Amino acid sequence: MQTITNLLDLNREAMGVFFTELGEKPYRAQQVMQWIHQRGVKDIDAMSNLSVSLRERLKSIVSIELPEVVLDQVSADGTRKWLLRLKDNNCIETVFIPEANRGTLCVSSQVGCALNCSFCSTAQQGFSRNLTVAEIIGQVWIAVRYLAGESLRHDHSVSNIVMMGMGEPLLNFENVVQAMDMMMDDFAYGFSKRRVTLSTSGIVPALQKLSEVSEVALAVSLHAPNDELRNQLVPINKKYPLKELLAVCRDYFKGDSRRRITMEYVMLDGINDQVEHARQLIKILQGIPVKVNLIPFNPFPNTRYRRSPQVTIDKFRDYLLKAGINTITRKTRGEDIDAACGQLVGRVQDRSHRSRQHKIISAVVALSAVS
Ligand code: SAH
Repeated sequence: MQTITNLLDLNREAMGVFFTELGEKPYRAQQVMQWIHQRGVKDIDAMSNLSVSLRERLKSIVSIELPEVVLDQVSADGTRKWLLRLKDNNCIETVFIPEANRGTLCVSSQVGCALNCSFCSTAQQGFSRNLTVAEIIGQVWIAVRYLAGESLRHDHSVSNIVMMGMGEPLLNFENVVQAMDMMMDDFAYGFSKRRVTLSTSGIVPALQKLSEVSEVALAVSLHAPNDELRNQLVPINKKYPLKELLAVCRDYFKGDSRRRITMEYVMLDGINDQVEHARQLIKILQGIPVKVNLIPFNPFPNTRYRRSPQVTIDKFRDYLLKAGINTITRKTRGEDIDAACGQLVGRVQDRSHRSRQHKIISAVVALSAVS
């Protein structure tokens, strides 16, 4: 039996190879990419610039298969979260964060996460598997379509994509890079390289490789200014300690002096939020082109951590600012639907149990049909 190719798995290069092998002209790849990603077409018969015979042939060897939307939640602040069921019944989450002048889509790269960061609830879910290219780009496809057909008050469209959902994107390297290619491809979503950001806990060799193959923006989950503390918070630090991580960061955007790495720093009360930590942070970031994002900790059940008080966060920020480090505090969004940083879990079993506690402002809409 012939294997069915999910066209969502193919970036332009792979799509080109696919059509060439069928004996078709390479430009078919562009046409089909546009149908799927720009016009949202899932039906081969609707691809009217392909010949009838090619359409017939395609129908027997390809599919256009997306994750299934099983929950669509809207937070009081307009943040929106989709729970998506994959073919093997695993579930992942995708979050859309509307702001005055942009709309950020937070995309997952794995089912669960293999890293065990002590302040992240995804870690507690364990790890199931890597997402396919189709499952990653499918999140973008779905968000774009859902937002287009929307008449909610916060009806912005996607302007930025961050690989900051569930999972460690650099541990699913090939698929993530291919999906990001599609995000930036003019025949698919056409986002500029500055509007697609990969966030990593610091898988040093993969980070080095990423700098060679992709131009996307980079965020690093730093969270601590010394190895002792970072080993506790981000245990992958034991394998790739700060010295190695920061060495890669130092040269990461060498070719373009205007680009900066975003250093993410979760603010944990009494743990990493003291002036002494700020001092150490300033020291280790010296000479590295960065901006710092302070993230107020988002609590989840059974966590031992608390969010730093606002005055502490402000003090920490001001300290960094005085040292000339561009620092902002990330606004917490979507907390009431567990859509904030570190709150994504995406398991149906947990969902049914937990959903009773959710203060979902807009109704939970179970949507079946997206054309
Ligand atoms: N694995 C990647 C991608 C996840 S991004 C990474 O580590 O970067 C999610 C961001 O939210 C990371 O910076 C992560 O450290 C942060 N985060 C995780 N749990 C959090 C929590 N409970 N509160 C606030 N931020 C959290």
